Amino acid sequence: MSESTRQERIAVIGAGQMGNGIAHVFAQSGFPVTMIDVARGALDKGRSTIEKNLDRQLKKGTIDAAAKDATLGRIDTNTDIAAAASAVLAVEAATENRDLKFRIFADLDKAAPNAILASNTSSISITEIAARTSRPEKVIGMHFMNPVPVMQLVEVIRGLATSDETMRSTVELAKAVGKTPVEVSDYPGFVANRILMPMINEAVYCVMEGVGTPEAIDTVMKLGMNHPMGPLALADLIGLDTCVAILEVLQSGLGDPKYRPCPLLRKYVAAGWLGRKSGRGFYTYG
Ligand code: NAD
Repeated sequence: MSESTRQERIAVIGAGQMGNGIAHVFAQSGFPVTMIDVARGALDKGRSTIEKNLDRQLKKGTIDAAAKDATLGRIDTNTDIAAAASAVLAVEAATENRDLKFRIFADLDKAAPNAILASNTSSISITEIAARTSRPEKVIGMHFMNPVPVMQLVEVIRGLATSDETMRSTVELAKAVGKTPVEVSDYPGFVANRILMPMINEAVYCVMEGVGTPEAIDTVMKLGMNHPMGPLALADLIGLDTCVAILEVLQSGLGDPKYRPCPLLRKYVAAGWLGRKSGRGFYTYG
């Protein structure tokens, strides 16, 4: 990953688990970053998560203390979307909710007049999001994977109106932060979640029907299919609320009942068992 200083400012909207990871990788690659969230607490937590993750890299010897300080020094935080004004790229990573994203993009259209507007959405239509702006040709999907500093892939999603120039610049920016971009078309769930979520949902049906315990199911998939992580542990990492939201988009967008979220998944979310972020999901976390 390049550590040279870059001039182009990146705005990241949402400081949750994905947003702070996206801010981290851009800042570590030399870009000045403005991280924006409606909640001051989320910004503080996001910043301290970045610091913890940089400490982990420092301990492993993949960065030195100067790189850690420089990375943190490149990240500003703000609760006002107007702080995105000078960005060349705005990456939205707010909660997975259509209406919320539509509002944010309508606001970003005015607040960041020169920026490519990218969404980190897991499943919501880039074409529909783009239609909320006056420049759909500059709107694109930039789907990072969790945890962002570790995972290599960025799914780059071309909306119906996305221009070749926007695609080219986005691919370049993904490469500039050391990621491997893969271009896909705009259909519900794109490629990653179109394939991943039915597997996670089926694993939850297996728990509900007593086919196996979460540990048994995850062990089968790890040792039998060579997956580095079982589907239920992965669902806990993604967030069970996010999994339900993605499955609902697949179900309504593709019109096929096979994507309906498992009732047990809905029950966990209703109980506030959201996975790692709430301390409990299919597993409990300290
Ligand atoms: P999260 O719940 O950890 O964070 C969401 C953040 O958005 C919160 O800090 C919240 O305060 C903030 N927010 C809400 N409304 C806002 C607004 N109007 N303006 C600015 N910030 C606002 O969620 P997450 O897991 O980081 O997911 C964020 C996005 O990334 C979603 O679209 C999700 O589908 C996608 N995504 C998630 C994963 C994953 O594994 N969790 C992976 C890839 C993509």
